Amino acid sequence: MSPTFAQLGVPHHIGRALASRGITEPFEIQAAVLADALAGHDICGRAPTGSGKTLAFGIPIVANVGRAQPHKPRALVLAPTRELAEQIMTEIRSFAGAVRTAVVYGGVGYDAQLRSLRKGVDVLVACPGRLEDLIDRREVSLSAVDRVVIDEADRMADMGFIPAVRRLLDQTGPNPQTMLFSATLDGDVASLTRDYQHRPVRYEIGEETPDVVAADHLFWNVSSTERTEVAA
Ligand code: ADP
Ligand code: MG
Repeated sequence: MSPTFAQLGVPHHIGRALASRGITEPFEIQAAVLADALAGHDICGRAPTGSGKTLAFGIPIVANVGRAQPHKPRALVLAPTRELAEQIMTEIRSFAGAVRTAVVYGGVGYDAQLRSLRKGVDVLVACPGRLEDLIDRREVSLSAVDRVVIDEADRMADMGFIPAVRRLLDQTGPNPQTMLFSATLDGDVASLTRDYQHRPVRYEIGEETPDVVAADHLFWNVSSTERTEVAA
């Protein structure tokens, strides 16, 4: 039997807020990650879409985040697209209680984003481009950030965001807790883990998604007697 949220160390007020949405039993990735993430360990996780990664990082972030000064968020969640950033924000807000949250991404006006940053945002969910823009405008400093999530790191890499992600990680407070989630853990994602994670606890759940694009398909028309020899 899988452990309950309470047994994994999830604070009761968060458990109650989740239960009011019908979320009462942890999914596999959550059962695997929550205790270590709540204890402050770095996490490197691979799990398929829909497996519940948002709560796996969102609960520990909300449970442990400090109170922010204006312009100086305490926790940062990086996501590759505005749709994903919005989804993460909606999920986290459902149990955030008094923790102040905001989301920033490009393609929309600045006013609402600036208003919340000036009041103080404890957990900031962001796409890399707009976040760098707001840092250039001196509306955000990452110097007080001590918890970082890199969600969908493989998509960040596909979209060319790795240099921006590195620049952002270089600006956080010293030795933040880092939690990285990705559908694949090789290539650029592996180098992020190597350079920015400190002895991460690794979880790999489900089958690794086959890279069908990188596979070469070759066809030979041969008689059945030659089949084994040609294939070999
Ligand atoms: P992923 O990021 O791994 O693709 P999400 O975190 O977006 O997956 O979760 C997928 C859906 O499952 C969301 O609608 C979320 O609210 C729901 N969900 C997550 N954890 C649980 C749970 N323990 N019980 C029921 N529903 C859950
Ligand atoms: Mg997700």
